[in-house]
Amino acid sequence: DSFDAMGLQENLLRGIYAYGFEKPSAIQQRGIVPFTKGLDVIQQAQSGTGKTATFCSGVLQQLDYNVVECQALVLAPTRELAQQIEKVMRALGDYLGVKVHACVGGTSVREDQRILSAGVHVVVGTPGRVFDMLRRQSLRSDYIKMFVLDEADEMLSRGFKDQIYDIFQLLPPKVQVGVFSATMPPEALEITRKFMNKPVRILV
Ligand code: AMP
Repeated sequence: DSFDAMGLQENLLRGIYAYGFEKPSAIQQRGIVPFTKGLDVIQQAQSGTGKTATFCSGVLQQLDYNVVECQALVLAPTRELAQQIEKVMRALGDYLGVKVHACVGGTSVREDQRILSAGVHVVVGTPGRVFDMLRRQSLRSDYIKMFVLDEADEMLSRGFKDQIYDIFQLLPPKVQVGVFSATMPPEALEITRKFMNKPVRILV
């Protein structure tokens, strides 16, 4: 029941401790290791349980930092949440040199394009802007190997279902998928059935 026992890289551990975390929360204890092993994971957990650091650690552990291409895509229902995730990802990955960008509506498309073309490891965003960037090929999907849906139930209730499906179609077929959701309505279950491969289910 410690971060040390999870087999994480030294520089990721440094980031976690520097951020002020001492011990993993329940969801982190159960969820980080399966994700770092490349498994598809469904985690049913409320916000406030530490889910952000769970998937951020899982992503940061698996990136190839020598390749400055987008390898992980995280979707969130709101701009604020996407930007908050961006900050956590950047802080936990500080000693790894991670490059993260938030692609959200209401910001300059040109600026997004400029940052993406300069190169990032991780994109966090809302479905509309992310799909737009993929469609314009400003965001290339070739190297994406991890895909996380945060607050999946909330994204579905905000009407993002079609955009989530459209994004899935543009990703490499073997992408690792993590779904985080407080509840599992039928539409969320449908996503897990359609796009996940033998997912591990964790209920916190
Ligand atoms: P989240 O569920 O990801 O929104 O996290 C809820 C809050 O718990 C945030 O303020 C985190 O910074 C905090 N938190 C997450 N994991 C830990 C941990 N292992 N130790 C202390 N605080 C944590």
